[in-house]
Amino acid sequence: MSTKFVRVLDTRRPIWGIVEGNVVYHLEGSPYGKWQRGAMLGALHALPLLPPTEPTKIICVGRNYAAHAAEHNSPVPEAPLLFLKPPSSVVGPDAAIVLPTLSQRIEHEAELAVVIARPCRDVTPEEAWDYVLGVTCGNDVTARDLQRQDGQWTRGKGFDTFCPLGPWIVAGLTAADIADLAVTCRVNGDLRQQGRTSEMVFSPAYIVSYAAAVMTLMPGDVLLTGTPAGVGPLTAGDVVDVEVEGIGVLRNPVR
Ligand code: ZN
Repeated sequence: MSTKFVRVLDTRRPIWGIVEGNVVYHLEGSPYGKWQRGAMLGALHALPLLPPTEPTKIICVGRNYAAHAAEHNSPVPEAPLLFLKPPSSVVGPDAAIVLPTLSQRIEHEAELAVVIARPCRDVTPEEAWDYVLGVTCGNDVTARDLQRQDGQWTRGKGFDTFCPLGPWIVAGLTAADIADLAVTCRVNGDLRQQGRTSEMVFSPAYIVSYAAAVMTLMPGDVLLTGTPAGVGPLTAGDVVDVEVEGIGVLRNPVR
């Protein structure tokens, strides 16, 4: 059975909630430890949602869908190509993606995001899923011109607001449950990206294991698992929706 964990702004402080249908209940405790369902907080649409996690790091994989590598005339890597986004790039559902004036080409990248449950280091791909709390939707917003110009990706991937996450973490899923889900991106309602998690070159569990051979993954840390083909530009006034089938829709305006 799956559970939807959400973070809500409650009179200026963040609290945890559980989404059931269109209603949010208070979560007493923490999804990373013991918890129980508390009082009703209100209707889902009426509550201000925060990013569902505050990661110490966001680990991303480049070119994990062959069709996306092809659209940039890049080869599919023989091992996961990891890079980092800073925690300061995270925003929640409905928060604006702010276009920086330093770039002339800012693009969306719809991705399945994996959230870590407990400290994780040196695990096999078979063990890795035991360290995962759940999954959410992510948008690996990218300044494509700066990414190309710099030769490495710190500026191109690192601006404030370049990592929308949410709307909630769906926990209690197995690796098999997420092995073949549609990942789509719509801009102003028009379909821009469409792929399936089954098309990934490296599975989420393999990526967790690969990253945890390098650094300790902490509770709340996020792994973005790569984007399918169809990335394209964002302009001020756009509304961008990232959807992972059965998980949710992450909507952010662009300004
Ligand atoms: Zn990406």
